[in-house]
Amino acid sequence: MTEQTQTPTSQYVLECRDVSRTFMIGRGPFTEKRPLRAVQDISLQVRRGEVLAVVGESGCGKTTLAKMLLGLLEPTAGDILYEGVPISSVDRRDVARRIQPVFQDPYSSLNPRKTLAQIISLPLDVHKIGTPAERKARVEEIMELVGLPRRLLYSYPSQLSGGQRQRVAIARALAMKPEILVCDEPTSALDVSVQAQILNLLQELRDELNLTYVFISHNLAVVEHMSTRVAVMYLGRLIEFGMADQVFDHPRHPYTQALLDSVLTPEPQYSLPNIAMGRGFPNPLNPPSGCAFHPRCPHATELCQWAQPQPLAADGGTVECHLHSDPDAMAKSPRINEQKASAA
Ligand code: SF4
Repeated sequence: MTEQTQTPTSQYVLECRDVSRTFMIGRGPFTEKRPLRAVQDISLQVRRGEVLAVVGESGCGKTTLAKMLLGLLEPTAGDILYEGVPISSVDRRDVARRIQPVFQDPYSSLNPRKTLAQIISLPLDVHKIGTPAERKARVEEIMELVGLPRRLLYSYPSQLSGGQRQRVAIARALAMKPEILVCDEPTSALDVSVQAQILNLLQELRDELNLTYVFISHNLAVVEHMSTRVAVMYLGRLIEFGMADQVFDHPRHPYTQALLDSVLTPEPQYSLPNIAMGRGFPNPLNPPSGCAFHPRCPHATELCQWAQPQPLAADGGTVECHLHSDPDAMAKSPRINEQKASAA
């Protein structure tokens, strides 16, 4: 770790400044590659000890953002800062010690040929932390912390339930005493009853270890009770960002309102149950012009079809919608999607 990062120099433990990530996608060696703008011009900050929820449908760019926050992927534009220092200038091993991932699927993220003891101590082995006896003691300590009985020490992942496997994944992430966990849909592969247990565990660990979480989810219901701030993404853009109370009680962006409506339906797995609005997510390789949400938005006007709304700072957060930034122009612009508006 550089000297600069040993002493916190920023009020934010993590920060994105105008971060973009574009992938060049082609079907074969002889087809022309096209840009897929997975993340576009995102600026957000993570405060020490908070739970920042990043929500949106599959394909909105939240996992790409998570990988950049973990230092696993370089932005094509903009900067990711760790305690005020560009993460690209921090030693890769130091980033790994301080920021750890918890992935979505504990079935595929754990090596089936390794015992729990080997899986959880792997980061300590790789970073050569402690003696073998100290590592074993640390593994036992973490297993107790995450609620795994010591008798499972030499069990294999195939001998565990889904919830136990996710506890192993969390234990492995905690082995090196990180400051930040980036949790990418950590409960979406689990049964509903087990989801609640894992969410409670994460909350307890955060309080006990003073952790900071970036919590990625497609489902607002999952993050409602634990997030302090919420970032809503749509087609690579940050369309609403604010304090959790503000976003949950007074959502300003029509897409956030639709996500919240989905929490109240019997089919929350669909994220956007409003049939009139449409469940179809646009093709990121061929995004709609103007505001990318306009084909599904019940409030869209002709202005939305050609003009990209800019982020508007409001109530300590931001919202990206012409209804808020250009209310006069919206009032004069003819409505489109009238059918969606009447059904919404
Ligand atoms: Fe809907 Fe227009 Fe706002 Fe986009 S800018 S969310 S289309 S009202």
